[in-house]
Amino acid sequence: MKRLALLFAVLLVLTNSAITLAAVDITPYIEQAVSDLKIERNDPRLLALTNAPYVSPDGKKNPESVDAIQTLTGCSMGKGNLLFFQRPRNSPLLIALSREDNGETVVIKYDGKGVRIFKFNIKNDTAADPKNFGAIQKQLKGDTFTIVTLLTSHAKGTPYDFLKCCEYHNHYCPGITSGYLIAKYIEKHYPAGPGLRYIWFACPPWCKDDAVSTVLDLTPGKGNLFVKNMAEGRSIEGPDGRFAGIMVLWNGAEKKGKAVVLQFDWNEVYRLAGVTVDDFSPKGGKSNPAFFTVRVLSSWALIPYLDQPEKFIKTFETVDIDAKALKRMKAAGTDPYEVVGVAK
Ligand SMILES: [Zn+2]
Repeated sequence: MKRLALLFAVLLVLTNSAITLAAVDITPYIEQAVSDLKIERNDPRLLALTNAPYVSPDGKKNPESVDAIQTLTGCSMGKGNLLFFQRPRNSPLLIALSREDNGETVVIKYDGKGVRIFKFNIKNDTAADPKNFGAIQKQLKGDTFTIVTLLTSHAKGTPYDFLKCCEYHNHYCPGITSGYLIAKYIEKHYPAGPGLRYIWFACPPWCKDDAVSTVLDLTPGKGNLFVKNMAEGRSIEGPDGRFAGIMVLWNGAEKKGKAVVLQFDWNEVYRLAGVTVDDFSPKGGKSNPAFFTVRVLSSWALIPYLDQPEKFIKTFETVDIDAKALKRMKAAGTDPYEVVGVAK
């Protein structure tokens, strides 16, 4: 009986090992990429970006790919130069290695059948040029905006907590930047002291909400993030910008809180980036590289102001609320702005 149990245990171990082994050994491709970039392991100018923790294009898991990247490049989460992004489970495995001093970049793509290598350069802000961006799109297709913007976000020296927002959002854009600024504004002007917690009403939702949730640790599962479209007939634009949402500072013991109605000034973003709102919808839509490069430019224009959220965010008003009002704000079919008394 004991022998049978042992045999069973051995079989179980073997089965599990088989599951975790990817069908392709990605190691030589990473070695070759580092060599092609003419850089040594552990060089701080090297940046690695991958979706390896999330995808299994051949049905196998890829944790060893992350280990291989760390071992062969010296990039790590601790150093802040190993970044991740998400993709659906059956998507190709992507590993981008980039030199931040000269912009040389190699992307390894494994789709479950074979490996392809792509090379391009993003030095001197060439990613913001539609012609150059279009050339990279021919190689990376739908992954271009994710890879190029995440690489540039790090290369431009954005803070680590900002990079975590971009990782979660799967790209770097002016929208995620607006959410980071909102989170910083809230932390600065409405700190969650003892006994207080945040509850965010993302209304209307846009890219920002992935940053608000990342920085302030708010998720639907924890019951502190509610996403609602604007009610019909309610204006999205306020006197000092677009309505961005309502942050409630809730005191659970006292069963009362403060609702802070926020606005984000997009015109200030356009002004700093030297673009117009029409530039965001160029002819041809997403088939026109300018659709993406205007977003790249606008993102970069905000970098010097990441610690100045007041430049873009205004409190429209603050309202004291009780448990009954909070319950109504959360309910389906109610307009949270109406509950806190903001006129249509
Ligand atoms: Zn976005």
